[in-house]
Amino acid sequence: MEHNTTETPQKTFTCQLCGLTSPFTYYGQKPPNTRAIVLLEECFMTKDPFCPEKEKFLVLGSNCSLCSMCVCVGLDCSLFYTKRFCMQCVNKHLDQFPHQIQAELAKKRQSSQAAVS
Ligand SMILES: [Zn+2]
Ligand SMILES: [Zn+2]
Repeated sequence: MEHNTTETPQKTFTCQLCGLTSPFTYYGQKPPNTRAIVLLEECFMTKDPFCPEKEKFLVLGSNCSLCSMCVCVGLDCSLFYTKRFCMQCVNKHLDQFPHQIQAELAKKRQSSQAAVS
């Protein structure tokens, strides 16, 4: 697996579910200039603009492991359960997730509906 890690800043990450866009500086599993950080998944990352430490990276999002759609890490857009899943795939395959995850999603859905009405 080869990753193009050449620094070409101002590439843009776009969440295909909520439309969030943000420039990202790195895509992969191990951000440069970091010690002992290896992420569980390949992510879009950007340096934290509010943090002067250069080891601080913000994870913007990742690709769904099923449909490879680009999704942000927002709770409404994706779920990480051993791999990254977009909410569309989560809903499609909900019965294959453990009950704990299903219960959490149901709870979240209820509370967000309550907040709207
Ligand atoms: Zn999103
Ligand atoms: Zn998906």
